[in-house]
Amino acid sequence: MPDPFKKLHDKRNQILFIELAGLLHDIGKLSKVFLEYRQQWQDISNGWDIDPHDHEYLDKHEVYSNLIPSEFENYKIPANIDSGEENFSIKKAIDFHTKPGEDLILKLLKAADGLDSAIDRNNPLWSAEQKNKIFKSNVFGYEGNKIVTVESQEKARHVLYAFLGNMLPGYLDHFDSKVRIKIFSGIKKAFDQGLSDTTRPQNDTTLWEHNYAVASILKVIVVRYILCNEKLDDFEFEKVEFGIFGIGWNGMRFLSYGQKIGDILGRQHIIEDIKRCLKDLIEYEYPIGNEIYSDDDGIYFIVPAKLDGYELKELRNKIDDEVYKIAAKASSGELQPHIVNISETNTLTSLAKAIQCMVEKTIYPFDSSVNGFDEYFKGALETFEDGKTVCPICRLRPVEKEDKKKKVCKTCMDRRAQNDKNDADKYKPKHNETLFIDEIVDKHRKAALIVARFGLDDWLKGTMVRSLFVTEASGLEKEINNLGNVKQFEAEEKKIKEYLSNRNYGEFNYGRIEADIDALFKDKDFERAKNIAFLYDRRNTFSPDGEALKKIRTKWGKFLKAAKKEDSTIDIYNLLNAKTPTPSTLLDIWNTTLNFLDDLPASILNALLPEKRRLKLTVNNLDPNKYGRTLDGKVIFKDKSVKKIDILIINSNEIEVINETKSDSPTSKDWSNADIILTDPLPHLKVSKDQKGSSFVPYRTITATPNLFMSIVPADRAVEITNLIYQKYIEHFGKVMGRLPFSIGNIFFDRKMPMFVVLDAGKRMVDNFDKLSKQRIKFTALKDKESIPSGIKLDLKCTLGKLDKTLTWQLPSKLGNCEDDFHHSYFIVNNNKESLPDNRKSFFKTIAGNVVHCSEIMKGDELQVLPNYYDFEFLDSNIRRYDINLSENNRRKSNVANFSSKPFLLDELGQKIMCLWFKLLQGKQLKGITDTKLRNLQSLWLTKYQEWDVNISNNSSKNFNGWINLVLLSIRKEFNEINDKHYILLQETIKNGLFFDTLELYLGILKERIETK
Ligand SMILES: [Zn+2]
Repeated sequence: MPDPFKKLHDKRNQILFIELAGLLHDIGKLSKVFLEYRQQWQDISNGWDIDPHDHEYLDKHEVYSNLIPSEFENYKIPANIDSGEENFSIKKAIDFHTKPGEDLILKLLKAADGLDSAIDRNNPLWSAEQKNKIFKSNVFGYEGNKIVTVESQEKARHVLYAFLGNMLPGYLDHFDSKVRIKIFSGIKKAFDQGLSDTTRPQNDTTLWEHNYAVASILKVIVVRYILCNEKLDDFEFEKVEFGIFGIGWNGMRFLSYGQKIGDILGRQHIIEDIKRCLKDLIEYEYPIGNEIYSDDDGIYFIVPAKLDGYELKELRNKIDDEVYKIAAKASSGELQPHIVNISETNTLTSLAKAIQCMVEKTIYPFDSSVNGFDEYFKGALETFEDGKTVCPICRLRPVEKEDKKKKVCKTCMDRRAQNDKNDADKYKPKHNETLFIDEIVDKHRKAALIVARFGLDDWLKGTMVRSLFVTEASGLEKEINNLGNVKQFEAEEKKIKEYLSNRNYGEFNYGRIEADIDALFKDKDFERAKNIAFLYDRRNTFSPDGEALKKIRTKWGKFLKAAKKEDSTIDIYNLLNAKTPTPSTLLDIWNTTLNFLDDLPASILNALLPEKRRLKLTVNNLDPNKYGRTLDGKVIFKDKSVKKIDILIINSNEIEVINETKSDSPTSKDWSNADIILTDPLPHLKVSKDQKGSSFVPYRTITATPNLFMSIVPADRAVEITNLIYQKYIEHFGKVMGRLPFSIGNIFFDRKMPMFVVLDAGKRMVDNFDKLSKQRIKFTALKDKESIPSGIKLDLKCTLGKLDKTLTWQLPSKLGNCEDDFHHSYFIVNNNKESLPDNRKSFFKTIAGNVVHCSEIMKGDELQVLPNYYDFEFLDSNIRRYDINLSENNRRKSNVANFSSKPFLLDELGQKIMCLWFKLLQGKQLKGITDTKLRNLQSLWLTKYQEWDVNISNNSSKNFNGWINLVLLSIRKEFNEINDKHYILLQETIKNGLFFDTLELYLGILKERIETK
């Protein structure tokens, strides 16, 4: 056995044990005593020094001491890993993680903890402590009414102890992979409810995110130490380095090969299986790292640094080898993974780099440049005999039987069948979703694929995180006013307060913050530096002397140097006042978007779409093991009428009929005495009883990952669902509106359309959204912002591809306690003429751009926005999908005429498209509207548009003016009672083409009519 393998093999149990201890080190924060301490410490004379969670929590503060699993104390390994007395335990990690002494593992734990807590945990303002209700937030600032109660913490910890008491004895005996996964999910369930810090905005990190990040960093530095025998005495968090190891592929391309929903899901399961196996390989089998991100396009791990280096070359080659084998086996040779390794970094924001690298690699499905790649993948494919038909799904293997109606290969057939097997629990959808397109389509036999896409790049890179604030003008002002209220430091604080009140350093704004930090950093004014250090360094830094100031300066210099590696444009002011993209912040970014998308089926689709019960029939005996689970055939009713049906075999004497429900109507067919003849040579079935069968909801989710959601829904509900998803986005992410792009597409199709065409169309739309998510657009404020109960209201205008648009944002901007949120609610503003730093108190220069708090947005401000888009297309043929491409100016053609009105703003969906249809047209607010009148006008306007050679993108031309005059005149003539608001809406949407696209959507695609009643 070569050396690194032997070492890893010999030390595996220790590595996994250290990982577990790291994961549990903050269990004391999941408690009433911790929360109450945080609420009260400022009023206690030695409050700062008595945080219970790391002061021998288990011995001194644990109220459930009889529940603590004995393994916490009794299971031990040597604290220096290699030899010596066995004295490192979970208990030690919990009790002493901030005071490691000479204990090597504890020192490493402290370093890992320090890296995840770097800068931003140092300086939340004390006035931002939550002394009453404690709200939980996330990196995007969504608090809602997520209140953390002491009861919830006590209960979660109680449950966790009981759970661990059950699991630990077995786990610590064998360190089994499956048990490890169970233990992780048990701890996650508990820690997701807890907070790593209660002070705003540090209440954005859950206890799980922080502890998982720390445990993972700890794991990789321990492994690096074991493998390379590095001396780690005096190890500090500044020295922590790690690598990022990514395995990826083009998920959308792989998913899209399929005719039926079942084929797509079968392929989705393969991706899941591969990820599961890779996780097992890297986290357990070797075990060198932990997963830090995954979506349909791959999975990424934090691993020891220099995995590419000479010392670990052999290990790396072996891992690569295993990775290819896993993918080849699980995908029968169809999915060739690519590998990206960022060798040395100290920030998880390098993940963005790794993902970008992967995207470039996966443009080509097969990369023959990698040695030994071919054998796994080619070998896994059966040899192909001449003259055989190629399977239309995988396009690789011969079909199973040439004469069969359903011509696909055996592998693809098995994958399809896998989905509806009763026993395939892991493949079961969570929400009763149907697998059959016939049960999804609307009354016009149409369905829609909804694709929703986040643009996470700038977040994973950390850029946008640095546009959110820990300290800023309004908070600093509050902090100064609050000085003297923290008991333990009352005297120091009062001294500073007095000093500051005698100096005129000016109002808090960007200039003041700059000058404060300059004083400290550039040694301009020693007195000032001493007295304001506490605002920008650790909060308990009071009046440091020259030596201490020098230390602060050196520390900041190091931070800045490290941050500049990520983004060379960052300055010290941005660095010290904004949030830092720590590992747990990065985890929170994609955990939050994943949870949001993953929750859409439950929160929107199941709530909106009706649950139905399939028709269940009792029949004479049939052997369910002999046949596939779905079969087609026909039913012959008593009255000799015949109907084609598809059935599902439930058991030996029960079947269900797909797309049929039990009806109580007297005119409906009598199934109870019918005969069923199945297409294949199978026994005829005699029905003896009909009743209600299993329930289903008419939609099917294809995928929900951190950046992508895809679901197939009835066509006539797609627009409504899309709008509800966007409303939910605004509620959850409205504070970062314009900085977190989110777009939704609707691909409409008839039930006969093969799924690969639908998915390919979806993929094209996603590609468009990705491109658009990098392009900032100027939105101009039409008025000063208005305050509304939930936040702010902004009226805006913008121009997309020469077409003018107006829109309104109503955005949340409050904290859970109803105060204004000065940590998150900002816009990137780029006014040319005005000096923003002088005129807006909240102005701040960040690497994401110059920002201003939403409460200070004024008429004429030019916001730099990453817009959210909406797009739709109807696949009236296989080749229509090729139209879903952006032209050079990032626009695409409407199907109505020569203008490029697509994609729209997602804001326009509710405010314009749905408003036009549901209010003006269908809602009859346009007095005198009828179906015929509308269609006549539409045809007149479009005919003249063609005849006169009009182009709405050229709105100063004579042709355009003549045409728009005709249109507006006919509106005045036909609808003389029209009010100004509606007239303006019609005028705008006719001028920018949206009106015609709306009619195409409702009249053309969805086959709606203006009701005459
Ligand atoms: Zn196939």
